[in-house]
Amino acid sequence: MSENNVKIEIDSSAGFCQGVVNAIKIAENELKKGEKIYCLGDIVHNKTEVERLKSLGLITISYEEFEKLSNCNVIVRAHGEPPSTFETAKKRDITIINATCPIVFKLQKEIKEATSTLKSSEIIIVGKKGHPEVLGLLGQIDGKARVISSVKDLESISIFKKNLIIFSQTTMDRNVYAEIIKEICLKAECRRISITNSICKHVLKRKDSIIDFAKTHQVVLFVSSSNSSNGMYLFNICKAENQNTYLLNSAQEIDFSLLSNAKTIGISGATSTPMWLMEEVAERVKGYLEGK
Ligand code: SF4
Repeated sequence: MSENNVKIEIDSSAGFCQGVVNAIKIAENELKKGEKIYCLGDIVHNKTEVERLKSLGLITISYEEFEKLSNCNVIVRAHGEPPSTFETAKKRDITIINATCPIVFKLQKEIKEATSTLKSSEIIIVGKKGHPEVLGLLGQIDGKARVISSVKDLESISIFKKNLIIFSQTTMDRNVYAEIIKEICLKAECRRISITNSICKHVLKRKDSIIDFAKTHQVVLFVSSSNSSNGMYLFNICKAENQNTYLLNSAQEIDFSLLSNAKTIGISGATSTPMWLMEEVAERVKGYLEGK
């Protein structure tokens, strides 16, 4: 409780997932060695954490920049990469420090193995088009899969004639995945549909806990970058449960007018939101309330 009896609580189930914790730990350990370390894309979909690691020396690079580098160390983040990235590294004498999340790695392997039945089947990946994880999954099978992001994407397809093997991105919304599968089944003339529930358990568990958290606070400050799929997924769930849920990137973005009559303020975030950032938000809210 703060001085004027407003309860401020940080969501204990929020914060980095294990995949992101591992990737950051790997980056920090490499940086300690004092060598120049590059990371292919933002190590996590969170601007402030990317800035923190940049201040420690981590250099984030684009794919164009990666293709011009040679003889250096590059981190592959938790989302994973297609095999072409590892081939480029080999050709250019780049040492890859592989921080692919083991869950994503397992999914890549499963998708690759599914190609043995590809002749008579079609692979569908349900996920966000262009998302790095989806690109990494597609790369395992030379792009030979259809990516479906929403039920709308299915409108132009009248019938699925081949047998289907369906996977999802690990951070997919389970309701959207279920809706898409239902729609696919309605359009399927095939004999076999294999469905893999590849949504990460960490993401699934967070859905229930964020609903409870949203219910028990009058205002929720949800800390996440808008380019985090998982962040937007959880933010929308939280907002649907509690209309007084607000998205912010950092403590500097708090709009204090939104907190005026609240007696309970919750602070939550995505699996890509660092705990230190949520603590910073809590401290700033506390400071504001004490100064009122
Ligand atoms: S959300 Fe799950 S699958 Fe994705 S990086 Fe985190 S632990 Fe791995």
